[in-house]
Amino acid sequence: MAVEVEIARACKDARRERSTVTLIAVSKTFEPDAIVPVIGAGQRVFGENRVQEAKAKWPDLIASRPGVELHLIGPLQSNKAKEAVVLFDAIHSVDRPSICEALAKEIVKQDRRPLLFVQLNTGEEPQKAGIAPQDADAFIASCRDKYGLDISGLMCIPPVDEAPTPHFALTAKIAARNGLKLLSMGMSADFATAIQFGATHVRVGSAIFGHR
Ligand SMILES: *Cc1c(COP(=O)(O)O)cnc(C)c1O
Repeated sequence: MAVEVEIARACKDARRERSTVTLIAVSKTFEPDAIVPVIGAGQRVFGENRVQEAKAKWPDLIASRPGVELHLIGPLQSNKAKEAVVLFDAIHSVDRPSICEALAKEIVKQDRRPLLFVQLNTGEEPQKAGIAPQDADAFIASCRDKYGLDISGLMCIPPVDEAPTPHFALTAKIAARNGLKLLSMGMSADFATAIQFGATHVRVGSAIFGHR
């Protein structure tokens, strides 16, 4: 897969081990018949942005394929927290107290521990989900102290019309000062750049599956 070659090259350029970067193949809108060959090629981590769509597509795919991991990369509503904790191994979109509360409850109830990322709105775009950079430290602290959530990293989606590098750098800086090790950043257009800036999880859709 071309994406795999490019990730390996970006890791080499950044003097990072390939194993420090997880490729999340974003399969949203694609049907199982498009996903099966990608699993067959060895890809194990997949991303979906809607709980309902993932619930319709993935349980059957996962049942017969141990080792496949599913990440929620899109917005989560509190009333879907239960299903999200059942289905996903990681949630990249923790961005408000009501979600923290709902997730904390389900994590205890189900005794499941999905990897959790706080989503930042580094471009402070009004239409976009995520915590504003200036509120990030306090929000991360409240996830831990008030809700007992074990936050592992930060996620960002830079504005489409801007260079992504300042957004990657800011996300990495906020993660470092909060002791967070994981960085979910970089998509089809900019995953190699994100790896330079420390991404541990790149979310790549169209470069793998084609146009949506
Ligand atoms: C769709 C999506 C991606 C993948 O985007 P591509 O440009 O197709 O690689 C990554 N992250 C999020 C949050 C998405 O919704």
